[in-house]
Amino acid sequence: MASYPIHSPMSREVQYVKGVGPKLAQTLKKLDIRTVADLFYHLPRGYQDRSQIVPIEKVKLDTFHTVRGKVKLTRQYRTRRRVPVFEAILTDGTGELLLKFFGHRTGIEEHFKEGTEIIASGKVTLYHRAQMVSPHYERPEEMEEDDHVHTNRIVPIYPLTQGIGEARIRRIVKGALDEYLDAVEDFYNESFRTERRLMSLTHALRAVHYPESRQEALSAQRRLKYDEFLLFEIGMALRRRGLKEGQKGISFEVTSTIDEHIRARFPFDLTQSQEKVIQEIQADMQDASPMNRLLQGDVGSGKTVVALYAILVAIANKKQAAIMAPTEILAEQHYQTIMRYLRNSRVRIALLAGGLTQKMRRETLEKIAAGEVDLLVGTHALVEGDVEFKDLGMVVVDEQHKFGVLQRQKLRRKGVSPDVLVMTATPIPRTLSLTVFGDLDVSTIEELPPGRQPVMTRWVNKTQLRKAYNFIRTKLQDGQQAFIVYPLVEESEKLDLKAATEGARFLQKEVFPNFRVGLLHGRMKPGEKDQVMRRFRDGGYHVLVSTIVIEVGIDIPNASVMVVEHAERFGLAQLHQLRGRIGRGEHKSYCLLFGEPKSETAERRLRVMTQTSNGFKIAEEDLRIRGPGEFFGTRQHGLPEFKVGDIIEDFELLRLARKDAFALVETDPTLSAPQHQGILQQVRIKFRDRLDLIDVG
Ligand code: ADP
Ligand code: MG
Repeated sequence: MASYPIHSPMSREVQYVKGVGPKLAQTLKKLDIRTVADLFYHLPRGYQDRSQIVPIEKVKLDTFHTVRGKVKLTRQYRTRRRVPVFEAILTDGTGELLLKFFGHRTGIEEHFKEGTEIIASGKVTLYHRAQMVSPHYERPEEMEEDDHVHTNRIVPIYPLTQGIGEARIRRIVKGALDEYLDAVEDFYNESFRTERRLMSLTHALRAVHYPESRQEALSAQRRLKYDEFLLFEIGMALRRRGLKEGQKGISFEVTSTIDEHIRARFPFDLTQSQEKVIQEIQADMQDASPMNRLLQGDVGSGKTVVALYAILVAIANKKQAAIMAPTEILAEQHYQTIMRYLRNSRVRIALLAGGLTQKMRRETLEKIAAGEVDLLVGTHALVEGDVEFKDLGMVVVDEQHKFGVLQRQKLRRKGVSPDVLVMTATPIPRTLSLTVFGDLDVSTIEELPPGRQPVMTRWVNKTQLRKAYNFIRTKLQDGQQAFIVYPLVEESEKLDLKAATEGARFLQKEVFPNFRVGLLHGRMKPGEKDQVMRRFRDGGYHVLVSTIVIEVGIDIPNASVMVVEHAERFGLAQLHQLRGRIGRGEHKSYCLLFGEPKSETAERRLRVMTQTSNGFKIAEEDLRIRGPGEFFGTRQHGLPEFKVGDIIEDFELLRLARKDAFALVETDPTLSAPQHQGILQQVRIKFRDRLDLIDVG
């Protein structure tokens, strides 16, 4: 939404608006309305078409109508409970309608003098006779055509709060528009607007509240959405520019010797997708400005290998590298994986994990600071703590959606200005990557390595449990392994633990008495977890019962069955992640979703899972089901909240705004050209408190 300088009439406190005053101003605060501008941007959540006046003889029961007629007769009385009632009979020559008002209304009899013209909007109901109870009404003879607020036109329906009613807020907004709209200046010049078919700001602000037609309301919204998107994307563009230009990065060399040496480390040929992505990364690394790239690809698409390529380029250039995972167990796994790839190489790798003793930790830190560690593996805690690098050149961050912008910034400050590669195994719909990661370049691995068999996914209900367990037993007999995952119960680790513990006991005793069942849960110490995982990996357990901790990244090729208990409680992204744990080896793999979905959306999620294994499709679907606000769970994940615009519905407009914003920042990075002053002002106000991230003019 737009912001205005302190001296603009738009910034005037709402209490000075006609009809408001200090008391109502307090109430309006609950709606986040503090200024005139806030009032203007308090947008209707819908409209009601009251422009069609219906002859009284044509009104239908239980239908919303607008009628126009003359007052014929009135009377006042009290109900048995002493509630005052005012009644008026309206006639328009075709029929008569009773208008009925309950409660005390000062001066109402003045409005309904016999013979007065009245336009009334309300629902027609039957109680002895056709009537409207407490309709909205206006007296056209007293008004100019344009002054109608409640009747005779398309009227806005606003979000309300306790203490302020529909009619009141409509009047206040209308009054404010009449008084202050002239003071509003457009941020764009005429040609900019016409090229994009955007209404002028004043037109849009009036029409969004009081449209002449549905079409006009849509056009008005379009203009306001564009403003919102443009501003956001300018922020993105400035930030990206700041990251690129503000700091001088490293120009890495990628010689053919380096390239060959690195490739020799991989026991397979890279897929075309991996090649393409590596090329993009190489180009970034060779460039002097710091890389800021998102690497996305489905689970198992081979991102780690690509990241390792980048890391090894950095190390070959005598720089240090770091890789950070969201959890200890994943950090440990990255460490193991990388150790395997780099067996007998000269690369010095260290793992900075919680399990270290004070002394070992200190020693590791010293080595890092002295440049005696080439690659440091750890969790996101790396950014927070006391780690000092000698010469950090490359940072790989695993699982972006758990990793905020600010952390990324902190990390950058640890090195001169390292290249940053962010990996995400949660495929992000293009819609979102544009907005959330709008300041990153995006590389996508589109194909899986060859030879993967798709995982067969089945939704299993109660009646099929026995069959499912039988099936799993045949797989176990065959020497394969199974994961059985329990959901987090109401965010409580205790309950979570209980469900999994009891589940494990039950499964061991009743279902798999002849097999070994292990248990892995979130409350175990990293060392314990590691032990259990290792045992499972080495075949010590046939079945691993676990809570969500195995969600991401774990690689056990011999596991061919994934059971998800209470699958209806998991989000699509999580289910997809879980399924990604299997199908990594030679065996045909099966994902069994146990669940009794109680809602339609829960059922839809399970269906989606059985229908596709494409992570991008699943993500799109997830976004559609949950809406962008919830896609990443909370706001902290950096998903912007748009007030008017909707990232999905208005994607095309968002794209236009993005293109415009990046072009604008490219040609006029300080927005100092005369025709950009309006936009500059908006940017200044919007990003005022984040000037350390964005260097504005
Ligand atoms: P991601 O990190 O995207 O989930 P990984 O990098 O862990 O994927 O790779 C998944 C598995 O596929 C690993 O076992 C890895 O060794 C293997 N892999 C990666 N790239 C290839 C490739 N080009 N050809 C064959 N196997 C590959
Ligand atoms: Mg991986």
